[in-house]
Amino acid sequence: MSYVSHLECSATGERHEAGEIHGLSRGGWPLLVRYDLDRLGDAITRESIAAAPAAGFWRWAPFLPVTRDEDRISLGEVTTPLIPLACSAGEGPTHVMVKDEGRLPTGSFKARGLALAVSMARQLGLRHLAIPTNGNAGAALAAYAGRAGMKATVLCPSDTPDINLREIRQHGADVWKVNGLINDCGKIVGEGARATGWFDVSTLKEPYRIEGKKTMGLELAWQMNWSLPDVIFYPTGGGTGLIGMWKAFHELRQLGWITGGLPRMVAVQAAGCAPIVHAFEAGSTHAAPWQDAHTVAAGIRVPAAIGDFLILDAVRASGGFAMAVDDESILRERDRVAVEDGLLLAPEGAATVAAWRQALENGLVGDDERVVLFNCASGLKYPMAPVVQELDINREIDFTSLA
Ligand SMILES: *Cc1c(COP(=O)(O)O)cnc(C)c1O
Repeated sequence: MSYVSHLECSATGERHEAGEIHGLSRGGWPLLVRYDLDRLGDAITRESIAAAPAAGFWRWAPFLPVTRDEDRISLGEVTTPLIPLACSAGEGPTHVMVKDEGRLPTGSFKARGLALAVSMARQLGLRHLAIPTNGNAGAALAAYAGRAGMKATVLCPSDTPDINLREIRQHGADVWKVNGLINDCGKIVGEGARATGWFDVSTLKEPYRIEGKKTMGLELAWQMNWSLPDVIFYPTGGGTGLIGMWKAFHELRQLGWITGGLPRMVAVQAAGCAPIVHAFEAGSTHAAPWQDAHTVAAGIRVPAAIGDFLILDAVRASGGFAMAVDDESILRERDRVAVEDGLLLAPEGAATVAAWRQALENGLVGDDERVVLFNCASGLKYPMAPVVQELDINREIDFTSLA
């Protein structure tokens, strides 16, 4: 059972039929899934969704395109918690919450998108999926595809941390290191689709990862009792999550499920790779590819995004903004939040904390506003500083140095 009516080209609005294998639209743009929301609204209520037995994002099945329950692949997804920053509990800023996506299967929110892409691939009879990735998307594809009995081929930039590469291989995917950036990997995946017949599940090059990421917006609305935050800070690489949440908010608004306004959407990027920030400031519709991309936050090291215009549209339409933060402040906030808040953020998540602080200082966000920051992955997947202190059991312990 699904309420999908059709798919729509995000640039031209051209209609594409549901129930067929789709990559990009005929015009070469990302496709968006459209639903018969009147019919959905007649059958489903906020209360029935809240009472649904499915855990995690599969609770939102009526808002998703999978028609047969048996194609739904689940690895025990959870509703990710909203955790207030400790500094927001006392004096000073209030209501700043981290949505911790690191608790999903494979330790990142890529699980949302890839679960949907793989489930739809199974529904449509595909057997072999391929992806370019900075790590997390590859792990999520490998896990869900493995579970679905499908083959996965994963191409990573060669400087992808070893822990990610090993995780992907451990899940049985065919993983390759490529001496280039994610866009170079994407080019090979695209060419390989024609040469080998594998299906390209690159960000926004198939229609369903957005639908999976959309569940972040649905879940957030539900968790906040159908009243959305004032501002959302989102670490933006390909932008799937930002575009997906903005889509979710519109679907909910059309259904009349949310009270109050929509949040201002803030695209957070790293100073060493900030094509969206640059385009936002220049007032352009599209973003020019970023040269020499570098940042510790590999998940947002995306020099060119095919959905750039959709990200920029959502940011502008929401009254939000785009902001770059440097690696130094990313790592500083990661350390601070680990110590003061007990949360081990991924660098991308720490980037949203750094951006929020910067926005607070610049007056772009008020200290009385309800803010949600996205931590997209478990901090355990990233390199951390080594421990150098040692105690020698063969010598007398100098407790003054331990006290
Ligand atoms: C993929 C990824 C992002 C970027 O997400 P998009 O929705 O593609 O912009 C940010 N952080 C982490 C950890 C990621 O894996």
